[in-house]
Amino acid sequence: HAPRSLLAPAALYGDERRNSVGFDLNDEETLARIRAARDLPIPDAMPQTVSPPTGAMQDVLNPATGAAIAQVMMVDAETAARAIDDARTWDVPAAERARILRRAADLYEADFGRIFAVLGREAGKSLADAVAELREAVDFLRYYAAEGEASPQAPRGVVGAISPWNFPLAIFTGQIAAALMAGNAVIAKPAEATPVIAMLGVQLLHQAGVPNTALQLLPGRGSVVGTALTSDPRIAGVVFTGSTATAQTISRTMAEHLHPGTPLIAETGGLNAMIVDSTALPEQAVRDVVASSFRSAGQRCSALRCLYVQEDIAPHLIEMIKGAMDELVLGDPWALQTDVGPVIDPKAQKDIANYIAANGKRVIHKLDAPAQGWFIPPTLLKVRGIADLEREIFGPVLHVATFKGDELGKVISDINARGFGLTFGLHTRIDSRVQEVTDAIHVGNIYVNRNQIGAVVGSQPFGGEGLSGTGPKAGGPRYVPRFFAPGEPSAIG
Ligand code: GLU
Repeated sequence: HAPRSLLAPAALYGDERRNSVGFDLNDEETLARIRAARDLPIPDAMPQTVSPPTGAMQDVLNPATGAAIAQVMMVDAETAARAIDDARTWDVPAAERARILRRAADLYEADFGRIFAVLGREAGKSLADAVAELREAVDFLRYYAAEGEASPQAPRGVVGAISPWNFPLAIFTGQIAAALMAGNAVIAKPAEATPVIAMLGVQLLHQAGVPNTALQLLPGRGSVVGTALTSDPRIAGVVFTGSTATAQTISRTMAEHLHPGTPLIAETGGLNAMIVDSTALPEQAVRDVVASSFRSAGQRCSALRCLYVQEDIAPHLIEMIKGAMDELVLGDPWALQTDVGPVIDPKAQKDIANYIAANGKRVIHKLDAPAQGWFIPPTLLKVRGIADLEREIFGPVLHVATFKGDELGKVISDINARGFGLTFGLHTRIDSRVQEVTDAIHVGNIYVNRNQIGAVVGSQPFGGEGLSGTGPKAGGPRYVPRFFAPGEPSAIG
């Protein structure tokens, strides 16, 4: 029977109007495979390089339990330099590259049990989040294959790809797929917390036919591998997703060491807001607020951080949000009923817990968290406005403010004044307000009467402006062309 889409509208790419990876969790066979995967052994994360790598072994930890699940080799600077020596652009026709990336997409889909197991145990992903992540990874492979095949140009050379732990398969794969599709050699540095899923992805790409010289994986520290990939003059482009501070460091390092004009595509933090006016449908708004704030334990750069509710509906709406929060199930990411898993590591847990404690007077609702593992309970804080937020808190913490009918313009200028510009949500039933607000707000992705996370490749290109990033949007038509050498007619940038 036809697979049912679990989470999102269809992504559109190439001639195929289809959405990838439709998992039916009602299907007994699918469920049996997922259950069986739960106890699969997790392999150690080894670098995937042409020359033999060297480095120190370190534990990979399960954020839901704190237990070591595998080891990772953190490579040294010599290994990174050798990987750059060994890298070769992928010199085959674009149609052949596209065929191989599509084959990789098929292999990813077929391997869903193992992929979910590792996403759950290494990254603390709930099963629903793991399903969404795999489909996004597959969408990136197929979408960039179609885009790059349509108007191929010459590659730039060796691209450094530095990816985050919050989408350790989807963003990781998206960066690699786009750079490879343009014919570049890619050296990928996965996040320190999530090297195993990265290794599985690279192994599947190699199995599909990507040459070892065109794609190498270097698990390691930012200060070692990240530095090598942003300061070696042989690097022809860098693609990065992570914190705004790290992006600024990368940009400075590149300016100092790399050829002028070497592109940096950076997707960074956000301080994302949503406005709910008094015409909004309360049930719909509440559902979308809760998903935007607490899904993935709030560990998305797109997540809602500051909610503005129009004053006359605020008491009622905030009570409803508290009620919806009470329904959230925290715990074992692998349990089908789990809504909120752990945060990534003890440092994140401590940092977020300290923030909540320091803002104790503002807390108006807070759940209980499991005692074991690195959990943060979903928490609601009352603020006067977005100016009260010290910084981006990368976890399940939502700030809520109220506004009067005549203050909408001020709310929007306060949001814009923070300088981030990633996502923004609006709930209203006034058509002219949609136009007025979306014209005035400065962000990359605006969502009206829906949640503000989970941009769909090919239909909702994702990326911000200002402190939230630079370069073309991921999953959009300008992304692959940025990885082509300049001077060609279609190299938009
Ligand atoms: N693309 C993801 C989304 O739309 C967020 C990516 C990120 O958190 O880095 O939710």
